[in-house]
Amino acid sequence: MERKKSVVVITGASSGIGRATALEFASQGHTVVLAARRAEALEKLKMECEEAGGRALAIPTDVSVEAEVNRLASTALKEFGHIDVWVNNAAVSLLGRFEDIPIEHFRRVIETNLFGYIYGARSVVPHFKERKEGILINISSMVGVTGQPFSAPYNITKFGIRGLSLSLEQELSDLPKVHVCSVLPSVVDTPMFNHAANFMGRAVKAPQPVIPAEDVAREILRLTENPKSEVFVGSAGVKAGFARYFAPSAFDKNIRERLLHDHFKSESAAPTEGNLYHPIDNLTTESGGWMKADKGGAGKKVAAAVAVAGAVAGLLWVGREKLH
Ligand code: NDP
Repeated sequence: MERKKSVVVITGASSGIGRATALEFASQGHTVVLAARRAEALEKLKMECEEAGGRALAIPTDVSVEAEVNRLASTALKEFGHIDVWVNNAAVSLLGRFEDIPIEHFRRVIETNLFGYIYGARSVVPHFKERKEGILINISSMVGVTGQPFSAPYNITKFGIRGLSLSLEQELSDLPKVHVCSVLPSVVDTPMFNHAANFMGRAVKAPQPVIPAEDVAREILRLTENPKSEVFVGSAGVKAGFARYFAPSAFDKNIRERLLHDHFKSESAAPTEGNLYHPIDNLTTESGGWMKADKGGAGKKVAAAVAVAGAVAGLLWVGREKLH
């Protein structure tokens, strides 16, 4: 039997996970509505999605502006008649010590990453309620469970997104065909680290191990076939989540030291606003080139350390279950 073809709106489609997700859905014959600020990248992606077998529409959108998100939803509805899936994915990243980050940049991250998702949800939930059907997928992060030092504004939004999902899911639980899902990726090889605003004084790198954006895209597609409340993508997130739950103080000390070493290069870097206010024109790929950086050294050591922490946490969990 042929699978139902869906209309899928994806924010943050001009690079990284959003781009990979658009291509994944298009290759299965779905219709994708592509949103982000970089119009040229969206137009190019639109053509690639059509070549891959889907219908596509590019709608340049700044998700921090409510009217633009409403326009995104109404244009998609006008063009295709309905929306089946909305993926809130667009985000910016901001690194630095808490007290060194200018407060207006805190606000900008929250306006993009959290209000952008709220605007998306508000523009599509009434439509889902009317149809009694639809899936809202919010991309959070493993750091929305574990926390992350030197990235407070970003981290606040990733926790907030889980709260948004859960609250909405509970509110809509009388509609069995309406779902709200959170996706919690581990570290992903995307241009996000190249796009990040940085006030740390040191250049940024992706903490290893990284997983490809396509892994997240496939999980998002699977969620539309079998919706779940929350899913981790990548084993590092599951293990770190367990470790944080069972050994919080050890985890918190370790993550501080580990990220100082693994998230920042030794070379110094001048403060930058990254893509907070204006998009960075290049870097419209899925990958940020971080997979190549992990040639067996640091990444494998970190993976092994995380695996040990996960195994210990797993044993503790089993022990705890037996005690009850
Ligand atoms: P990218 O930087 O590659 O993608 C971010 C996307 O958001 C881009 O398409 C960017 O496009 C868009 N965007 C940024 N600001 C705005 C805005 N104001 N309005 C509209 N679009 C905007 O990073 P990722 O692909 O990695 O990020 C995708 C999601 O995955 C984010 O929610 C991120 O937090 C999450 N995530 C990423 C992880 C990682 O390790 N990479 C790990 C866990 C979660 P443009 O500049 O053209 O607007």
